Amino acid sequence: MAASKILAVWHLSCLKSKDTGSTKSDEAFGVSSLFEPITKTTIHMAKYKLEYLWLDGYEPVANIRGKTQVKEFASFPKLEQLPMWGFDGSSTRQAEGRTSDCMLKPVAVYPDTTKKNGVLVMCEVMMPDCKTPHPSNGRATIPDDPGAWFGFEQEYFLYKDGKPLGFPSSGFPYPQGEYYTGVGYKNVGCIAREIVDTHLDLCLDAGINHEGINAEVAKGQWEFQIFGKGSKNAADQVWVARYLLMRLCEKYGVDVEWHCKPLGKDVDWNGSGMHSNFSTTYMREIGGKDYFEALMAAFDKYKNEHIAVYGPDNHLRLTGLHETQSIDKFNYGVANRGASVRVPHSFVNNGYKGYLEDRRPNSQGDPYKIAGRILQTINTVPTPKKGKK
Ligand code: ADP
Ligand code: MN
Ligand code: MN
Ligand code: MN
Repeated sequence: MAASKILAVWHLSCLKSKDTGSTKSDEAFGVSSLFEPITKTTIHMAKYKLEYLWLDGYEPVANIRGKTQVKEFASFPKLEQLPMWGFDGSSTRQAEGRTSDCMLKPVAVYPDTTKKNGVLVMCEVMMPDCKTPHPSNGRATIPDDPGAWFGFEQEYFLYKDGKPLGFPSSGFPYPQGEYYTGVGYKNVGCIAREIVDTHLDLCLDAGINHEGINAEVAKGQWEFQIFGKGSKNAADQVWVARYLLMRLCEKYGVDVEWHCKPLGKDVDWNGSGMHSNFSTTYMREIGGKDYFEALMAAFDKYKNEHIAVYGPDNHLRLTGLHETQSIDKFNYGVANRGASVRVPHSFVNNGYKGYLEDRRPNSQGDPYKIAGRILQTINTVPTPKKGKK
């Protein structure tokens, strides 16, 4: 038993030590054959499909990319067992052709139940030295804070043939009203619900912390909500959930339209947001009216910096109509859905403690950049305990 354990450890450290390149299982077999009687009875290596995911260098909105390598493990791999990997950055707007290698550093791992031994590996993009974050790496700018919690409400449209799923070939379906949380073919068609329900199951199987889904105000528009503790956790999960949704839609001939106002601002059809709910340990446990007011003053001061990372074309959506504040103003209000930041009733009732909802981020925003900016602003506000940062 002890010998087999040692051998299993040897196999894994061998896999781990290779930071690029393909599996060299022949190398492992060469040595393990010396121990054949033991390995045959006690070690069950299996080939895992590691789908590495990362954000490319496109501006203003990164695309999520994925490629798969196959490696052997004795059981479902842990994050620390997953090696770094390289990719051709010249094909993703992350490097010049001459020195095109960028590195993928695994940061979170999720089971992919659509495949036998499937693994989704969320990665940060690093420079070739494997240590310096690539300039496109928004995740690396998020302050580490295990006490920071985020809940993202991701809205999106399903699109087919260049228009929202369920729209007639010309013109518009009947106006908004019954689509929101609606039921029936006339409201949701015959494909959308299968897609969103399957997506929910895939995400739950992957350990993604979905809190709910709903049909939204426009025809073909939907929402999912993801909550996570730790400054980077919910954002990682949103990106993996986006990837799974786009991948699932392929077989339906459907695309996901993340743009915040795909039908334009001149028609009476809702846009898509990504309301970002946030709290820190201090906000939840100490809080208070003075701290809250100082926090909102900081959000006002940095409003342009926030808007800069809250998704492109947000001026089309933040118009002051359709439950939004206009893009150049900052305000907050208790239970006010026309405010930049909505203060839940529970926050005030608890002595200004709890979470706040920033309603400005849009559906196409990068949750890494959003979480990073919110925490950077919070960290400018002095707290009696920690002092000004
Ligand atoms: P809305 O009425 O805006 O749709 P919801 O109740 O659907 O509001 O969403 C509120 C979100 O706030 C929840 O999805 C959850 O993820 C998030 N949330 C709840 N408590 C906290 C907290 N303490 N810190 C951060 N986010 C939170
Ligand atoms: Mn919601
Ligand atoms: Mn919504
Ligand atoms: Mn909301």
